[in-house]
Amino acid sequence: MSDTLFQKIIDREIPAEIVYEDELSLAFKDINPVAPNHILIIPKKHIAKIADAKLEDKALLGHLMYVAGEIARKLGIEDAFRLVVNNGADAQQTVFHLHIHLIAGRPFNWPPG
Ligand code: AMP
Repeated sequence: MSDTLFQKIIDREIPAEIVYEDELSLAFKDINPVAPNHILIIPKKHIAKIADAKLEDKALLGHLMYVAGEIARKLGIEDAFRLVVNNGADAQQTVFHLHIHLIAGRPFNWPPG
């Protein structure tokens, strides 16, 4: 079940606009952006959804959050952005490879939809 769309992006089997990469993670532009800036940050390790993360993944999850801030600083959007993780089909998760949505560049509402 690790042969997802995002695994194919990691393996360079399908193209993506990659904005960041290190040994643990990859970040690329969402193909269907919901804001002027919409980046997906993923672990290279396959974890289907955040509820499947194991104790051994704690540092990796922290790394992804750090990378989100790093990308925001690089893009100059560090003062206003939102991070979203959809977990499960009923929460609108469509790709079952854990990803953090980094969204910025438009006004936000609260509570989120
Ligand atoms: P989610 O609904 O949380 O699982 O988010 C999946 C996201 O992946 C959606 O925002 C899609 O627009 C995005 N997506 C789907 N296919 C691609 C692709 N080939 N390249 C970049 N983003 C994609």
